[in-house]
Amino acid sequence: MAKTQSKNYEEWIKSIVKKHYGKRCPDHVKECACCQAWDIYDTIIDANRGKL
Ligand SMILES: [Zn+2]
Repeated sequence: MAKTQSKNYEEWIKSIVKKHYGKRCPDHVKECACCQAWDIYDTIIDANRGKL
């Protein structure tokens, strides 16, 4: 798949996380729903890096 499509996919997920949880917190807090959402985002991006 083209690199631009992968980038769009990242941006798309990022916009969803941002919309629902807001911007990433400056400090990571395990109990924070926002931080957990961004953790999931990171996991998805890492897992799909190079594949998309
Ligand atoms: Zn947080």
